Order: sequence, then structure tokens, then C-alpha cells
Amino acid sequence: MSKPKLFIPGPVDVAPETYAAMAGPGIGHRGKDFEELYASIQPGIRQVVGTTRPVFFSTSSAWGVMEGCIRNLVKTKVLNLCCGAFSDKWYGVAQSCGKDAEKIQVEWGQPIDPEAVRAKLAEGGFDTVTLVHNETSTGVLNPLEEIAEIVNSFDGVLLVVDTVSSLSAMPINFDKLGIDVLLAGVQKAIALPPGLAVFVTSDAALERAATINDRGYYFDFCEFAKNDAKDNTPSTPAIPHLYALRERVNVMLEEGLEARFARHKSNNELVHEWGKRHGFELLPPEGSRSLSLSCFITPDNLDQAGWIKSIITNHNIAINGGYGKIKGKTFRISNMGNETTETMLEMLAALDAELPKFLS
Ligand SMILES: *Cc1c(COP(=O)(O)O)cnc(C)c1O
Repeated sequence: MSKPKLFIPGPVDVAPETYAAMAGPGIGHRGKDFEELYASIQPGIRQVVGTTRPVFFSTSSAWGVMEGCIRNLVKTKVLNLCCGAFSDKWYGVAQSCGKDAEKIQVEWGQPIDPEAVRAKLAEGGFDTVTLVHNETSTGVLNPLEEIAEIVNSFDGVLLVVDTVSSLSAMPINFDKLGIDVLLAGVQKAIALPPGLAVFVTSDAALERAATINDRGYYFDFCEFAKNDAKDNTPSTPAIPHLYALRERVNVMLEEGLEARFARHKSNNELVHEWGKRHGFELLPPEGSRSLSLSCFITPDNLDQAGWIKSIITNHNIAINGGYGKIKGKTFRISNMGNETTETMLEMLAALDAELPKFLS
């Protein structure tokens, strides 16, 4: 039997057309064929990111570029804005890179308060801030615009934004927001198989990187910029993933980005309405809820593990039973990528069919 269709918040379900695209011809990466492939993806992916700057392709998962941000940008001290598993981990990664790091920690399920960022930065000494736009572990959407405005009001402080589970699901404008590094893995909203990350750097980020001697090689931002000038990557890239990215970006532009954002929003609303019908409460407060996934609090009278297993067994559909320290206490449903009203309703019907057996 085929593996369950993924409605977990990453990796998500991949279209057969995308897998087919990955079987494109083998080409060498130091040649014209590759340069054409690289250049052909740029106009579309730049639209998705909201930038006129080059988008770099890293053959790694998102964490490679996330660690790269720490190594390329942090000279004095980094401020990590922590509100869930992914944003919390960034603090640990900064320390494991030997950097001076401080954090603002809020309770899981709550968003980052922009005014707390202002107060912390006003203490001085920071040169970098890390923010997770859409905290996938809790379903919190952070106030990116407000936080960006505040970070930008401090001279010499660079803003790094993880948009792993928001890029292409909702509008983000790199150029307008004044972000210094934006990054995303491709296995969430972009709906590719895992194995590639995309990122954009500002001039200020590249200038900072150039002054840091031990920024390493594989994720050296200056190397990415230098190679981009030749429509190329520093080391051998995952060429099949780039074929797949070209295919997905073309599909996005055909659908239209506005229509894609609207589809994510309405699919997300379907899940929220479903939750309301059952009396399931969302973990994040109103106004801070993700548009690409929903994180519900598991009620005491639900055998969640049994329910999720039964949905897989009887419907071949997978949702997620919580992540990190809220595993088992929450469940998450993704609406990222290629899902339609029909596929969402089919998934919710499967959840409904199994639910009564596991409620007491
Ligand atoms: C999934 C995810 C990551 C980690 O991505 P990897 O591809 O596992 O490196 C980081 N940040 C967020 C917000 C995520 O959702």
C-alpha cells in the first residue's frame, strides 16, 4: 500500500509533476546548461520572496542556512526571539557556534512582543536578531512587519527571518520589510521533497560576512554571491531539486501568487471551522494564528495517538501529533503547498470518520 498522504506541517505532499520534473537530464553544474537552469528560476522565485536581489540555492535543509546566518553575521551578540521548537533551537545553535547569544523567551503558543524586542535591543551590544516568521511547532504567526521596523531602527543590527513554513503561503516582501537574510526550506509551503533551502541576503549582510574570518566554507554567503554572479553555486548543487523548484515556481506563477495566498487562507479557514464544530481550541491566540497550519490543543477526552493511527490505517492520511515538548498535548494539520478545497474536505472527513471511536 502507498504511504499516507501527508497533512503534517512538513514535509508536505509532493505533486507527481514535481517528482517527474526531478528526473530531468543529468547535466554538469559548471556549464551553460546549468547556468540556464539557475537563471530560469530567478525571476519567479524572486517574485515569491518579494525581491529584486538574487535568490541563492543551498543543498541542505533549512538548518544549514540558519547555522550559516549565525556564522556569517554574528560578531558581537545575537538576540534570538524564541516562541517554540524552531525559534528556541536557534539560541542553542548560536551557542554551539561559540557565539554570544541572548534570548527573549515567550511561552509556546504566544507570539513575540515587538516592544520587548525594542527594549532588549535598546540595552545595546547586539548585531543580529533571529526571528521565525511562522513558528511551525505552535502554529504562531509572528508580527514580522512590526518587528522588522523596530530592528531596522537600530543601526548595525541585522534581521534574519526564517520563513520555512510561510514562504509562498502568504505575502512576504523582502525588499520592503528591510530583512537582511530570509531563508526557507523547500519541503514545507513550496511543496518539494526535502533537500534544498533558498535564501536571500541584503548588502549589509554580505558586507558583515566579508568582515568575519571564520565563517566557514559550505555556507559562506560571500561564496554564494560570487557564484551567483555566474549563475552558479559554490559547490555541486542538488540539480534534480532545482528542476523541481523550476517546475513548482512555474506552477505558482500560473496560479498567480495572490490566488495562491487566498487558497492557503481559505483552506486554513476550513480547518479552523472544523475545529470550532468539534470545540477544539487553537493553541495561539486570535491575531497570531498561522495561515499555513493549525495547531490545536488536545482535549483530555481524546485518545489522540489512537485517533491519528486510525486515520492512517483506514484513510491513508497523516496528521501530526504535536512537536517537541507539546507532543501529545497538541495536534497539527497542515494546509501548505498544493492542497485544494476538495483535498482539505476529504482529509477533514477522514478525521471526522475516526473521531467518535476515540472520544470518551
Ligand atoms: C521545518 C522548519 C525548520 C527546519 O527545517 P529543516 O529543513 O529540518 O532544516 C526550521 N524552521 C521552521 C519554522 C520550520 O518549520
